Amino acid sequence: MTNQNTLDCRNIYCVGRNYRLHAAELGNAVPESPMIFAKPSHAAVRLDGSAIALPGDRGAVHYEAELVWLAGRRYEPGIALHELYTHFTVGLDLTLRDVQDGLKAKGYPWLAAKGFRHSAPLGRWLPYEANAERSGRSFAMRLNGTEVQRGHAADMVFDLAALTAHVGAIYGIGPGDLLFTGTPEGVGKLADGDAVELLWGDEQVGAGTFVI
Ligand code: ZN
Repeated sequence: MTNQNTLDCRNIYCVGRNYRLHAAELGNAVPESPMIFAKPSHAAVRLDGSAIALPGDRGAVHYEAELVWLAGRRYEPGIALHELYTHFTVGLDLTLRDVQDGLKAKGYPWLAAKGFRHSAPLGRWLPYEANAERSGRSFAMRLNGTEVQRGHAADMVFDLAALTAHVGAIYGIGPGDLLFTGTPEGVGKLADGDAVELLWGDEQVGAGTFVI
């Protein structure tokens, strides 16, 4: 039985190349302004211990563990982060990497690589923590019990305030919108049956297995 436990949300914004070492591992330069893309709301699914079905016929599916913030109200210029965001968690920006390489080569949009159903599994919501991105706590992903990624939000190229101002002014942010804030180095391929755990510090906030 695969997970039908979709998660109600509205817009899902993501940022590419927001950690230097991850940009470098894929051979990409760090952008001069945030490189924003979006996923359909149907990408969101709870990482609540159940199995999640992913496409198995379109090449490699890569995991990218990221901090994700949930907006509770409408963005206005100058709004404080603690007024805008109610919760945060760790999520995965799942990516069909071979598809993405093909799209990049043609200069096509990333939707087919980044926007498929279940491409945004999310841990449980934690209450907004002031300065979570500067608190020294880190987030991590374990694959089959082994830690494969650990990131410190302080290493983001564009921090939460900068990303919020950029996305809010250009695209708008409203209640139910999610903001994925980029992945640190260590991305890699998922295989059928892989078990994933997401951590904030050492606290597990999400877990599940993948059917590919
Ligand atoms: Zn990402």
